[in-house]
Parts: sequence; structure tokens; C-alpha cells
Amino acid sequence: MSNKQRPSALIMLFGATGDLAKRKLYPSLYRLYKKGRITERFAVVGVARRPLTNEEFQKHVKDSILTHIGENTEIDQFASHFYYHSHDVTNTQSYRDLKTLAEQLDEKYSLEGNRLFYLAMAPEFFGTIAEHLKSEGLTDTRGYKRLVIEKPFGHNFESAQKLNDRIRTAFAEDEIYRIDHYLGKEMVQNIEVIRFANAIFEPLWNNRYISNIQVTSSETLGVEERGRYYETSGALRDMVQNHMLQMVALLAMEPPIRLTTEEIRSEKVRVLRSLRAMSKEEVNEYFVRGQYGAGEVNGEDVVGYRNELNVDPESNTETYVAGKLMIDNFRWAGVPFYIRTGKRMAAKSTKIVVQFKDIPMNLYYNPAEPLQPNLLIIHIQPEEGITLHLNAKKSGKSSTIIPVRLNFANKSVDRMNTPEAYEKLLYDSMRGDATNFTHWDEVALSWKFVDVISDVWENTKEKSFPNYPAGSMGPKCADELLQKDGNFWWDVEKFVIETC
Ligand code: NAD
Repeated sequence: MSNKQRPSALIMLFGATGDLAKRKLYPSLYRLYKKGRITERFAVVGVARRPLTNEEFQKHVKDSILTHIGENTEIDQFASHFYYHSHDVTNTQSYRDLKTLAEQLDEKYSLEGNRLFYLAMAPEFFGTIAEHLKSEGLTDTRGYKRLVIEKPFGHNFESAQKLNDRIRTAFAEDEIYRIDHYLGKEMVQNIEVIRFANAIFEPLWNNRYISNIQVTSSETLGVEERGRYYETSGALRDMVQNHMLQMVALLAMEPPIRLTTEEIRSEKVRVLRSLRAMSKEEVNEYFVRGQYGAGEVNGEDVVGYRNELNVDPESNTETYVAGKLMIDNFRWAGVPFYIRTGKRMAAKSTKIVVQFKDIPMNLYYNPAEPLQPNLLIIHIQPEEGITLHLNAKKSGKSSTIIPVRLNFANKSVDRMNTPEAYEKLLYDSMRGDATNFTHWDEVALSWKFVDVISDVWENTKEKSFPNYPAGSMGPKCADELLQKDGNFWWDVEKFVIETC
């Protein structure tokens, strides 16, 4: 492996005692270390409020790895690279102390001045931290400086723009890595490969052959202890503005002229620019919302959203969104992209269904058993792979046509081997590959699209809430949205790849 593939870095992790750091970031860094993708030339400074010694912090890191990976080879050596700095984000002196520590570690581990600032904490601190990093000289370094930030990036276009302006005082756009952890998922990255590396799909990938595309991202969990945050967000901001629109952009974009960050992003931006804008009056024609009531999930009774912790008993917040997106360009004119996402649904899964148009003349017409359309299913999670639904003759004497499925499962046996999204994203940010992070232009366009919807929904109380029971696939209005077009949602929860 070259040095570019094994980058050196000082990672300053703000929010080091938080849930994200514990569940995702420490296990991901450990995996990268074990694979030799980061060498001894790295150090992590954990930054958080509570006072901890380096030893206590290292124990915290080791515990999180043991809990989440269950392995401990070379763990002491790995953890010895972790240092702790107790800090309050508004304390200027504390940034100066952090700078001194950074310089010492830079020297000790030969880090060439490379600095990655990872903000794993509440977004209201992002602006303040970025400004202090600049004013106290932490961004003044001879190596690279990069800012990695978690969602949400703003609450609407206006707040996102304000935040962006503050961050940009300290970092250039190409130094800002806005995480969308869906973009780190193996099969999301595979969308491009399926489309652009196969002669059989790309010629069909347009409005002549595709009837509609459905993107479903369903969760079985409720809001858990995140009620306070979720009340101000809802499914639209939490899922649609970022992950769902990113998946649509990857599905709909034109082939980039090269597989570089800039070219891919510019094609995705063109898709977002082509999204048909809605007037306020049209919002409810294209988008519907849901909120879960009490129900049963995985055999257990669960409460409705309004009875969750820190949730208003009269809450108007949506826990489910379904929408129809029209991409008004030459390739996609007339093809609906349906999206849906929600909490407390029947299954935890993210799947894309590409439904092809019916063949022009059906030689096998049988009203009792109509031919199934061809489907390409891209399984994003929990299983990863693709399935192609074709029609074939049932073997034997009968002339019955049956649907058959060609499956490719990415990880049919050993689930542990699949790299976690965060591992990829961390590695990419250390190598300087921003392809799988969102550019400001994408963030801005997505917010502008979503703002129209949230504006209408926030100002009209939805009287039907709660309108779907926990453990179902969403409200009736979501089915009606497709029925208006003569379409229906495929039962994706039943499309599971058979594993060997
Ligand atoms: P958390 O509440 O568990 O942790 C917050 C961290 O911030 C703690 O380490 C705390 O010490 C630190 N902190 C808070 N106030 C501080 C202050 N004034 N000065 C210094 N440090 C301070 O949060 P989390 O769940 O780890 O989430 C962090 C961010 O990541 C949030 O923006 C969240 O939306 C985002 N995110 C989290 C997850 C997840 O799985 N937890 C997933 C996606 C995105």
C-alpha cells in the first residue's frame, strides 16, 4: 500500500464521549487499523465536556470496540494513539491548549501537519467550533486540514446557508466533508457500477423502458430517546432531504464523463436541479405524510409516536413520508420516482425497485395469471445485493409462465466482513476522496425542494394522525398516491435475497 492509501492524520474528534463515537467511529477506526489502512502514523484527540484522563478515555475506546466488534487483538497498541482533551466549545483558551497538544502529537507521530476535525456533536456547535479553529490557529497547518460534519446540515435552506457561511470562514468547500452515511454503504456505491459497468442496463435506463422507480427505506425502530430532536425534524428532514434524494440522484444521473468527485457531483446536482418544483397547492398531490400509532413490531406491543418520550401528545410531526418525484429532463420525463420512508414499519430495509415497462405485445396473455413486469431490485440493507425478476416457463409439460429471480448477494454468509459505512467514509476523508460526501450545491438544492413541503405541513394540522399502526408498511394515503398513476408499491419486505 502506498502512503496515499495509508494516510497519516491527527483526528480531532469533537463529541468523543457521545453515542456516535462509541458505536461507529471507534470500531471503524479499529477496523482500519487492523487492515493496515491506517498505520502507526495516526493519533486521535477525543474532545468532549466531561473531565477524563487519557487512560480513562483509552479504556472507553477499548470498551466500545469490545462491545461492538467483540475482538481485541492489538487493542492496547491501537488505543495508545488516543488522547483526551476536556473542552467546552466556547472556551477560547481551551482551543489554544488543544493546538499545543496537536503540535506535540504531530511531532511524536510524524503526522506532517495533517488534521481532520470530526464534529460528532450537536449541529448548533458547528459554526462556533469552525470559527474558533480558525481564530486560534488550529487550521493553520502545513498539511491538509479537513472538516467532517454529521447531519443535520441546517434545518432548512436558510439555516443551512448561514451555517455554511460560518464554516466557510475557516474551510474551503473542498475541505468540508458533509457525511451522508447512506453514501458510504456498499450497495449505494454499487448503484453506479450496476448502471455504468453493465451493457444490459444502461440502454434501458430511461423513460422508454422504465415504468417507475421505487425507493423504500423503512425502519422498525421508533424514535427511541431521540424524541426531542425528532419533534423538530420529522421524517422529511431526517431522511428525505439527505439520504432519499441522494439515492434518487445516483439512480437518475447521467453517466459522468469521468469517475472523479467533481464530475459525479455535477451530474447529481443536475438531477436535483431537474426535480419538478411544486407550488404549495400541489404539495399534497405529490407528497403524503404519516405518523405511527400503537401497534405490534416483531411480536411486541409498542406505543404510538405521541406516547413516546419527549413527544407532544398532540404532535403534528410526521414519522413517515411518501412522495412522487418527477425529474423533468429528456431521460426521465414521465417516469415517477416514488420514495417512502418511515419509522415503526413492518421491516427494517432499504431497497430500490426499478420496474420496467410491460413488453409491447404479450404473446402469453392469460387474464388469470398476468405476466409480471421485469424488476431490478437493489438491496441496500440489511442484505446487500441485486435481484432480477424475469419470466420463464415452468419446467414440465405445462405452458405456465412463472416469475424467476436471479440473485446476487453481496454477503450471503459472512456478514461481519462487510465494511461499515463509517469505516469507508473515515478512510475516504483521510485520503481526501470527497466523492461520497455531499457538496454544498446538493445540500442547498435538496433543502429548497424540501422546504416547500415542510412549509405546508407545518402550517396545516394533519387531522388523521396517527394514521398507520406500528408494524405496518405505512398509511393508506401512500397506497393511494401510486394508485392515482395506476401503480402500486411492491412488497419489498418480501423481497429478501435467498442466501446460500
Ligand atoms: P451525543 O449527545 O451522544 O454526544 C454529544 C457529544 O458532544 C458528547 O461527547 C458531549 O460531551 C459533547 N458535547 C456536548 N456539548 C458540548 C460542549 N458544550 N462542549 C464540548 N463538547 C460537548 O450525540 P451523538 O448521538 O453522538 O450525535 C452527535 C452528532 O452526530 C449529532 O449531530 C447527531 O445528529 C449526529 N448523528 C448521530 C448518529 C448516531 O448514531 N448517534 C447518527 C447520525 C448522525
